[in-house]
Amino acid sequence: MKPAPQDSTAPSASPNWCATCGHAGALGALARALVAMRLPEERLVCVSGPGCAGKLPRGMRGYRLEVPAGLTLTVAAGLAMQRRDLSVVAIAGDMEARTAGLLALHAVGKRGPKLLYLILDNGIAAQSAGSFSEALPVAGAGCLELCIQANFAFVASGIAADTESAATFIREAMEFEGSAAVVLRSACTTFHDEGSDLAMRASMQAVPREHPADDALGALSLARRSDVVWSGVLLKRRRS
Ligand code: SF4
Repeated sequence: MKPAPQDSTAPSASPNWCATCGHAGALGALARALVAMRLPEERLVCVSGPGCAGKLPRGMRGYRLEVPAGLTLTVAAGLAMQRRDLSVVAIAGDMEARTAGLLALHAVGKRGPKLLYLILDNGIAAQSAGSFSEALPVAGAGCLELCIQANFAFVASGIAADTESAATFIREAMEFEGSAAVVLRSACTTFHDEGSDLAMRASMQAVPREHPADDALGALSLARRSDVVWSGVLLKRRRS
């Protein structure tokens, strides 16, 4: 197949976010990764649900599907299993990942289709007037921890504002032969001032060099550190 021009997956329109929304960094990181991969736009499908994170594919070229809450990962996995010639990206906010999408997370982790689950974690349900998603009764663990517990074979973490690093993780995740999750911490500047990019950068640390990438228990232990925003690949293992 003939590669598309280098800028074919670059943002083409605005997803209509607030002017200083942190999700813009995630959009830039995904676009950057796709340009580096030289992925033809007809082979890209982005699946997303409602909410601010779900608007991200509106800034991408390629195909996009917007689905009801909780179905993002399910639809993406079905597509990935049926059409292995496509690169499938499921995009959700932490609200969906922690709640309505939780059952699908475990089913996908068990089956392991090749896809990227990109979670934009700002700790906010912005479409519910800024409720704190971590305060929901059903939302105990963080997104990284949930993905590792669900047996995703590749799990990486970063912050959306660090677009260059995030693009690196996203590309590695999309080239991984299995189910990959990338959790990007993002700032909702409208409802959550403490979640600013500056505060996240202050808490960011690179994943320790001595951490073996195939050590799931070690990855879980890192993911449970609430005082650190990790930047790097926490888990990368071969499927048995
Ligand atoms: S409400 Fe928050 S998450 Fe939604 S677009 Fe505005 S800044 Fe971004």
